[in-house]
Amino acid sequence: RHRRLWEADHRHLWHPFTQMRDWLREEPLIVDAAEGVHLVDTLGNRYLDGVSSLWCNVHGHRVPELDAAVRAQLERVAHSTLLGLASTASIECAEELVRHLPSGLTRVFFSDAGATAVEIAIKMAFQHHQLRGDERRTEFVALHGGYHGDTLGSVSVGGIDLFHRIFKPLLFDVHHAPQPYCYRCPLGKALPGCGMACADEVERILAAREGRVAALVVEPLVQGADGMITQPPGYLRRLRELCDRHGALLVCDEVATGWGRTGTTFAVEQEGVLPDILTMAKGLTGGYLPLAATVTTEQVFESFLGEHAEKRTFFHGHTYAGNPLACAAATASMTLFRERGVGAAVPAKAAALARALAPAARLPHVGEVRQRGLMVGIELVRDRATKEEYAYALQAGHRVILEARKLGAILRPLGNVVVLMPPLAMTEAELTRLAGITLAAIEAATARL
Ligand code: PLP
Repeated sequence: RHRRLWEADHRHLWHPFTQMRDWLREEPLIVDAAEGVHLVDTLGNRYLDGVSSLWCNVHGHRVPELDAAVRAQLERVAHSTLLGLASTASIECAEELVRHLPSGLTRVFFSDAGATAVEIAIKMAFQHHQLRGDERRTEFVALHGGYHGDTLGSVSVGGIDLFHRIFKPLLFDVHHAPQPYCYRCPLGKALPGCGMACADEVERILAAREGRVAALVVEPLVQGADGMITQPPGYLRRLRELCDRHGALLVCDEVATGWGRTGTTFAVEQEGVLPDILTMAKGLTGGYLPLAATVTTEQVFESFLGEHAEKRTFFHGHTYAGNPLACAAATASMTLFRERGVGAAVPAKAAALARALAPAARLPHVGEVRQRGLMVGIELVRDRATKEEYAYALQAGHRVILEARKLGAILRPLGNVVVLMPPLAMTEAELTRLAGITLAAIEAATARL
């Protein structure tokens, strides 16, 4: 069976973000089932899921409460639109969601993927200013190294050159500021003496484009897909102040950081920042079904009310927006957060993971371990003293991942960064085992590079 599926995969499936020539040379790991925080492949091997599928299965897999909620919803209605109708499942989901949001965020626009949630945020921010008569505010500011999804709008505000370079001619212009990547400061400075010069660059752009910027789009606390780039304390607060000073909206993309990942339900809470627009997806349904949300303040929503109704419609919406099955899964997931204190348990678990990863400091090819809550990036380097990078073609991260599989864990690399995004449901013992496998895999892979 494994062999037949492998051949069919190689015959028909085109995998996302994948160099298919390399893929067709390798035997794929085919996930067949799951148990709690483990995945099981077609050969019967069990693996710790060290990355919550793609950072989304926050409660692990086959969660009885989520299974039951989806089954119960199937007995009522699997799909119904939000265009011209409401649905019980989507209303209950929005109501529960607002309970978890930082106070001040009250309006929920559903969609189906993180990229779409950001796309919507961009269009909303733009239209918000237009409706207020501020027609010159048409530009966006974002950070180098940011990742906001793979649709053209979200790619425009994205800042990972490797993913975005080829599509440049299709994108709208965005002003990109240097990222707060302290391990390799793009400005050649160091904390605390630098006074966060990278944030000064954001201010420089906002001042140079005075009255023209609609919004600053940023991943709060951690830039995920660029290698878990953790921001210094106070950075996000500073961005909030800058947006206020220059009249731009602040859009915080919590697709990766949301739902307990960094130790609070949303990362913005740690900086006491209220964004004008916040986007989420991934963990919203506990990783069960595609659902995303773009949530806003009353102030943003109110721009869309009033005279000239045709001008004030937000012309956006997908067939599956607010799908009842996905909403039922999300409501069940959020209820677990509320009733079981899933998020409250994260700091203690994060501390256990940090203790188990401490020996990384002695590995010659680990440059830095960056961690916020249960969000970890381990940057591999050829030389610790000089921070010399491994050449991209060596696929250092990918090699670590292959070693980890042999030892019983599924991880994912981001270039030379090994990522851990375990389900929040992992016990301290499981997290310790995951860390042990990760370090052993790094040692084995880098010894041969
Ligand atoms: N925004 C951030 C911060 C992300 O990390 C991601 C995906 O990893 C996205 C947006 C895109 O989400 P999706 O893959 O659901 O479109």
